Amino acid sequence: MYDVIIIGGSYAGLSAAMALGRSMRNTLIIDSGLPCNRFTPHSHNFITHDGATPGAVREAALQQVLAYTTVQIDTDTVIEATKKAEGFEVRTLLGQTHVAKRLLFATGVRDVLPDIPGVKECWGKTLIHCPYCHGYEVRKQPTAVIVNNEHTYEFANMLNHWASGLTVCTDGVQLPQDVADKLLAKNISVIETGIASLQQEDGQLQAIVFKDGTELKVAVAYAQFPRQQHCKLPEAMGCEHTEMGLIKTDMMGRTTVDGIYAAGDAVNMFRALSVAIASGTSAGAMLNKQLIEEGL
Ligand SMILES: Cc1cc2nc3c(=O)[nH]c(=O)nc-3n(C[C@H](O)[C@H](O)[C@H](O)COP(=O)(O)OP(=O)(O)OC[C@H]3O[C@@H](n4cnc5c(N)ncnc54)[C@H](O)[C@@H]3O)c2cc1C
Repeated sequence: MYDVIIIGGSYAGLSAAMALGRSMRNTLIIDSGLPCNRFTPHSHNFITHDGATPGAVREAALQQVLAYTTVQIDTDTVIEATKKAEGFEVRTLLGQTHVAKRLLFATGVRDVLPDIPGVKECWGKTLIHCPYCHGYEVRKQPTAVIVNNEHTYEFANMLNHWASGLTVCTDGVQLPQDVADKLLAKNISVIETGIASLQQEDGQLQAIVFKDGTELKVAVAYAQFPRQQHCKLPEAMGCEHTEMGLIKTDMMGRTTVDGIYAAGDAVNMFRALSVAIASGTSAGAMLNKQLIEEGL
């Protein structure tokens, strides 16, 4: 029996594993290899690795974590997890069964991309979700933001700081008049026509093409598409979720189910490597502390 099985071996999972490895805990990481930032060529705003590829950051982490002999990693997908009299049992896609005293989910979230031609190609390159991750590289350019929710004004007003000429594209949704007025007062244009496609070459956005045949020439667009938990097992095991669809945890990383912990994007609104790593470190350390207190 392992002390801990960590499901998800990306930034949050690996940092939890480091805390546990350094606490001499027998830890198995199971990771299916699909981190949410795999579409982006360069990662920013994480000191010591600013501008590195996402793969390079993970590779360095992996090398350092696996130096602790109590930690091992399997490339596999956990498809079932059940609470047993003592601990937990997980089953994987490759037919493995493992048991552990505790489970830690660091399984992240998935962005649900709309079915608009060009979106998939541009995502993470010139169609981006966060100015702190990629805004500096595309600063002071004609910019669009595809958004039509209650945060439209707040998001657009923030992005206006990075852009030189910003257009809000609502993709067919009419904005409340007061929101449209506030945007115009900030010199932010609004286009409410539905989007037909993103014109692009190799992920480099050239224009947004609307359903009425008009075009908006931009080199970069922001969008916050809906997100969902990458892994549904915490929900199936009874872990409560917040209204925003995040796994509910306390300050220790404990979910609402005894013995199950969670960390990273799966529990945090603010998506950044540094935040995911901090939350993994904290959950790993707190999990070890609890095991000590329980005499395990
Ligand atoms: C396009 C894009 C660009 C970004 N750019 C930046 C940036 O420049 N700078 C920055 O700081 N942040 C950036 N971010 C945010 C950052 O990538 C995330 O905050 C970070 O990846 C979260 O780490 P995580 O470990 O919680 O989840 P993830 O990195 O998403 O990893 C989750 C892991 O769990 C695995 N998994 C899921 N379910 C299972 C299962 N059932 N069994 C086994 N494994 C499973 C997945 O395969 C994956 O490897 C970006 C995000 C996106 C979407």
